[in-house]
Amino acid sequence: MDKRWLLGIVVVGILAGVGIYLYMNMQRTFGRSARVVEWIRNPSAHPDWVVRAGTRCVPDAPFLMPTDGLIGYLWGDSFQAGKHHQGLDIFGGTDVGQTPVVAAYPGYLTRLSTWKSAVIVRLPSDPLQPGRPIWLYYTHMADPNGNSFISSAFPPGTVEKYIEAGTLLGYQGNYTGDATNPSGIHLHFSIVLDDGQGGFRNELDINNTLDPSPYLGLPLNAKTSDGAVIVCTGSGQ
Ligand SMILES: [Zn+2]
Repeated sequence: MDKRWLLGIVVVGILAGVGIYLYMNMQRTFGRSARVVEWIRNPSAHPDWVVRAGTRCVPDAPFLMPTDGLIGYLWGDSFQAGKHHQGLDIFGGTDVGQTPVVAAYPGYLTRLSTWKSAVIVRLPSDPLQPGRPIWLYYTHMADPNGNSFISSAFPPGTVEKYIEAGTLLGYQGNYTGDATNPSGIHLHFSIVLDDGQGGFRNELDINNTLDPSPYLGLPLNAKTSDGAVIVCTGSGQ
């Protein structure tokens, strides 16, 4: 066979494979979107979908669940071809400013002076990889206009304030930076790698974040999720 033909077939095959892979990733995310919509419309119909703030889901999980609600989107979910969600989205099922957000683990909290809806907490030592610093990022804690729901204990410009696990950080909101296009009301929670110079890496790139599954003791990786609702059966701390 002509070599160019063969090359053409290989290229078409690779493109089709990549397309199918991206499509399947996005299909899984679409399945979770349908559930999120159902939950937001009528949370009281699905009390069995709720996880609770402050719960340690399995005894050896280092982190506490940081808020109440439905775990709507997972680490690695894909809303757009080639882009992957860097954390968890937990939807409270309430109005803005009502569902508490608490610290999953002790650490040193920073809120940059420009941050309306987010805080980040430095853990000097990753509980699953001792000696490595990591950061926990909590965001969407403001209304569409940027009115903050972060606790008054952490005003803009807070630097390295020590907090215990379970400390109230604020309340879920739907701030996106675009007042005409708010998100559903939720907490976005992610684990961010250190930049090696005392700072955190860019959270928007999934390669700079960690799979939260072992930290919370739940199957939170979109690639390996079976699509079932993720519940947390642990109790208290
Ligand atoms: Zn998110």
